[in-house]
Amino acid sequence: MKISIVGTGYVGLVTGTCFADTGINVTCVDIDEKKIKNLENGIIPIYEPGLDQMVLKNVEKERLHFTTSLKESMEHAEAIFIAVGTPPGEDGSADLSHVLEVARQIGRHMNHYVVVVTKSTVPIGTAKKVKAAIQDELEKRGAELEFDVASNPEFLKEGNAIEDFLKPDRIVIGTESEKAEKLMNRLYKPFVLNGHPILFMDIPSAEMTKYAANAMLATKISFMNDIANLCEIVGADVTNVRRGIGSDTRIGNKFIYAGAGYGGSCFPKDVKAIIKTAQLNNYNLRILEAVENVNDDQKKVLIKKIKQHFPDIKGKTFAMWGLSFKPHTDDMREAPSVVIANALTELGAKVKAYDPVAMEEAKHELGDSIEYGKDQYDVLIEADALILITEWPEFRVPNYKVMDKLMNNKVVFDGRNIYEPEEMKEFGYTYYSIGRPSIK
Ligand code: NAD
Repeated sequence: MKISIVGTGYVGLVTGTCFADTGINVTCVDIDEKKIKNLENGIIPIYEPGLDQMVLKNVEKERLHFTTSLKESMEHAEAIFIAVGTPPGEDGSADLSHVLEVARQIGRHMNHYVVVVTKSTVPIGTAKKVKAAIQDELEKRGAELEFDVASNPEFLKEGNAIEDFLKPDRIVIGTESEKAEKLMNRLYKPFVLNGHPILFMDIPSAEMTKYAANAMLATKISFMNDIANLCEIVGADVTNVRRGIGSDTRIGNKFIYAGAGYGGSCFPKDVKAIIKTAQLNNYNLRILEAVENVNDDQKKVLIKKIKQHFPDIKGKTFAMWGLSFKPHTDDMREAPSVVIANALTELGAKVKAYDPVAMEEAKHELGDSIEYGKDQYDVLIEADALILITEWPEFRVPNYKVMDKLMNNKVVFDGRNIYEPEEMKEFGYTYYSIGRPSIK
């Protein structure tokens, strides 16, 4: 079996590699020549645990190929997955220009039956647009070829993408053709063998499922952050509240951690896009509008605490641990670290940051407005305070003795609640976290 994956980013590369690992012949396509050249030379463009070995293994077995030519990749391909970016447009709606450009190209080069599968996160109604774009191109060249479209949204989490793809909670497939359903069943069979369900449904429901899932997850985060802010005001501890509510099986204990706000390439843009879809249909998703507002404010909560502790920030030096929007990824898109670093440098402070993998990516966002350290202790030298932004495992148990020697002041702002207030007190630190009483 041969398939083609168009768009070789976080989703496309993981999808292509995992399919290749089941024995399928996969060609990954991208318009970024440098990315494709690097991949051909064994250089993996993103950090994702386990991905590099898996790519190299499947390239060696000649099951995984890279090209900039969509046309070439389509030769004998039974399915073409569209996994290109759908960034937010100016009005917040998903920008479909890349998806539709790929659809037009498919129409231009198709020469046999294929199933065109949209894996990118796209608004309801996109499959129809993809179908129309392909049909248009076929008509332009007078070709009468059969094809089907399907919607197969992706639910992988960056940082755990391979595991998520190989052992999915569920696979969602929207299709209106038996032939396409049969093909998708064949493709995904290796991933559903151990009881992981494959859910077939109509296309609009599949498209909606992806947005509803991300919107629900973002809602859990903003809800908990809102409660955390109230906890601080009334003297409660959000960690206890989380344990208290999480043990209720109707609520569950996952995804209810308070912090410095959600970021990444998905939640912010997908929440915006579904709000826009609703507005275009004369409906207001009031809960999600609040989710977005709470999150925008939450990214600034640490800045407020820092300003309260240091009324005169100008000339102060802040060490920052973690830059990526979450651990185990180098993705910096919409990362709270950017908002916090920019606010501090605008106020005249110096920021010295360390992240185990995201520093190169961070340079695209923050340039030389901040300094980058060679390790987590290097950035502490003469720092007036430490700000913890990303909960990488290596930051969880720091060497307090070394910290004491390096820092000017024993002050920590913890944006992910990874340290114990009691322990901080024991080591003599002034400690601020989210939704918990401060230690002064
Ligand atoms: P990405 O930016 O990492 O990768 C997209 C790739 O598409 C880029 O390499 C780009 O060069 C390429 N591209 C753009 N136009 C192209 C064209 N015409 N032909 C060929 N290649 C083209 O994006 P991503 O994070 O992989 O996300 C892709 C889609 O999957 C988005 O819709 C996103 O919302 C969705 N998604 C992402 C995640 C995630 O965790 N990153 C999870 C689930 C779903």
